[in-house]
Amino acid sequence: MNLLDGLKDPKLCRNVLRQIEAEVGDQFRFMEVCGTHTVAIFQSGLRSILPDKIIHLSGPGCPVCVTHEREVAAYLELAEKEDAIIATFGDLMRVPGPDKKNLKDAQAEGARIKVVYSAFDALKVAMENPQDKVVFLGIGFETTAPTIAATLKVAKEQGINNFYVLSFHKLVPPALKALVQDKEIKVEGFLLPGHVSTIIGLEPYKFLAQEYNIPAVISGFEPLDILQAILMMVRQKNNHEAKVTNNYKRAVADIGNPKARQVMDEVFEVVDTLWRGIGVIPQSGLGLNRDYERFDALKAFNLTLPDVPPIAGCRCGDVLKGKIRPDECPLFKKACSPASPVGPCMVSTEGSCAAYFKYKVE
Ligand code: SF4
Repeated sequence: MNLLDGLKDPKLCRNVLRQIEAEVGDQFRFMEVCGTHTVAIFQSGLRSILPDKIIHLSGPGCPVCVTHEREVAAYLELAEKEDAIIATFGDLMRVPGPDKKNLKDAQAEGARIKVVYSAFDALKVAMENPQDKVVFLGIGFETTAPTIAATLKVAKEQGINNFYVLSFHKLVPPALKALVQDKEIKVEGFLLPGHVSTIIGLEPYKFLAQEYNIPAVISGFEPLDILQAILMMVRQKNNHEAKVTNNYKRAVADIGNPKARQVMDEVFEVVDTLWRGIGVIPQSGLGLNRDYERFDALKAFNLTLPDVPPIAGCRCGDVLKGKIRPDECPLFKKACSPASPVGPCMVSTEGSCAAYFKYKVE
């Protein structure tokens, strides 16, 4: 048996589950803020076996979903520029923008869009098409930002002048702060994202315990990881204490990855940014700093974020804040399904609506 098999072991999981059942009080509301946790909780069946008193909320952990409708409108506008080639991760292709148009539609109308697997692939596209301007869509959290920063460093060193990044990166801790300050969202514990934490470590989450008295656990993605994290938070609540703990030490160092952060700091600066459903969160995004502004697609193409309304009827914003469950959206499974998504939470495989649909949560 390897380590990961052990972390899926039904007997061990049942033991922890029994402890949670025995120790949870009236109710415990925890939120995960990572698309991979969303999927892991549904895929492993945890969602259906957790005691009713454990309330699972999905937060703003899916990068495609939290990309604001004005940002979507901006990159769709960019796709229409004749001298631009858009390079993007595939999960953005079907995200609906104004008039339900998405990048796939833009491609069908003649926009040049290439799906890539990394920012370096996008840079390669730029090197192969020196007569065009290649724009990589920088969507993601602290996890994706370091590789994009490293790519920009290479572009600068090699003097590649036709490569740009549209940086709509978002930072997780400021979003958590915005959530805990919202009186309507009562979160009693956070299951902290494993991937983001490999970069930022423990420190940036400590305000949750110190200022808001909320326990938070960095967790891996196996069922036993998640159950242990829930038990740790339940116990803290019972003991009237709050700590930020790293329970994913096999992947996350408490100090995170200083080298990755250094590369990010060389290229990006922290800026206020828009989040779908939440609005502007101060100091929660990454824009290109002065040393890299010539790679900034916003400046190179003189782009502003068009003032577009939210998608009619879509409650993605409330889903992302944990205010409603996806099946409480009137369009869920009716007008909105993975085959015909109305909002991004149904498009992305990491979206809560897609997970609810796929795993048939009633
Ligand atoms: Fe939006 Fe569809 Fe989710 Fe409703 S079910 S919130 S329309 S993505």
